[in-house]
Amino acid sequence: MNDPTRPAAGLRTRRSWVPGERLVGREPDPQAPADAPRIGVLALQGDVLEHLRALRRCGAHAVEVRTTAQLAEVDGLVLPGGESTTIGKLLDRFEVMAPLRARIADGLPVFGTCAGMILLSDELDQDTTQPLVGGLAVRTRRNAFGRQVDSFDTHLEVAGIDGGPMDVSFIRAPRVEAVLGDDVEVLAQVDGHPVVVRQGALLAAAFHPELTGDDRLHAAFVAAVAAHRNAARA
Ligand code: GLN
Repeated sequence: MNDPTRPAAGLRTRRSWVPGERLVGREPDPQAPADAPRIGVLALQGDVLEHLRALRRCGAHAVEVRTTAQLAEVDGLVLPGGESTTIGKLLDRFEVMAPLRARIADGLPVFGTCAGMILLSDELDQDTTQPLVGGLAVRTRRNAFGRQVDSFDTHLEVAGIDGGPMDVSFIRAPRVEAVLGDDVEVLAQVDGHPVVVRQGALLAAAFHPELTGDDRLHAAFVAAVAAHRNAARA
């Protein structure tokens, strides 16, 4: 039977539309607290919906960002996992690259995960012409843990995150090969290589915290964005 309240067969994974769920990121969130920070998820390619949901679970007003006008309205931004080459090219093509760099230079809090971490990096250690957003003083290696079959879930202790190791998923993940700036803090490592780093308002994780239901890094980012916004208002 064709039941319009259910998604089509084959779409019933935890990532798909949930019956009754608002159009996450496209409509105002009725449950967001009145004073919730407005956090965008760059929605050009990648796992946007999972980040929107995680941010909402953490009390943010989460919205999709595709245009410069939408970018101008957010207090913080997530660069999701996906394909960094594709996201970088689309940032160029939609002319969001330069405005995004300008907002980062101005102190916009940004959280990059996986491909988002690659995009935030100032340098890659491979020869590449792929466009990067930059801002984070690290040299990063794409696909550093191997191919798709080498992807793995693990528990990871992250400095500043209370409550024990985080549940995280590394999917064709990058890692930091070299820290280039004095103000880069390494918050977690795998095999001696940084996989969570912070530099001022920029946070980057090599894995996907949005896929495991462990929202503690998102919660920390939402709190940092709220503090940043409140300081700017004061
Ligand atoms: N390997 C991808 C890249 O290079 C990142 C993978 C991911 O975001 N899960 O962009």
